[in-house]
Amino acid sequence: MSYAYDDQNIFAKILRGEIPNTTVLETEHSLAFRDLYPQAPTHVLVIPKGPYVSYDHFASEASEAEIVDYTRAIAEVCRMEGVALTAGDGFRMISNAGSDGVQDVPHLHVHILGGRPLGRMLAKA
Ligand code: AMP
Repeated sequence: MSYAYDDQNIFAKILRGEIPNTTVLETEHSLAFRDLYPQAPTHVLVIPKGPYVSYDHFASEASEAEIVDYTRAIAEVCRMEGVALTAGDGFRMISNAGSDGVQDVPHLHVHILGGRPLGRMLAKA
């Protein structure tokens, strides 16, 4: 079975310039921008520019250049936001996928959260 990508999702519209965003970093294959509803002092979303639904989709089908660019973009955002362990107190990366993962926007994104203690990873159900 293949992955189905909906090009009308909101992040695809951001990539096409149809919706504004607050860009933190743009690279050849990736874009990082501030979450519209931040849940921590640092809350940045990092997306690949290619049409990938989820991390497993990206990791399976993206080119090596895209994967390296995306991985390094995430690290660069952590440094820029002052949460990288080189100078900051750390961060959490979250990438929701599908219905059990409660993914609202079906374009791969990693949330980078930091700037305060974030508590345990999951609330008890
Ligand atoms: P997820 O539930 O992992 O799919 O997260 C989607 C995230 O996108 C949420 O944290 C939203 O606050 C965020 N979001 C939705 N629309 C926008 C937008 N136009 N610009 C920035 N962030 C957005």
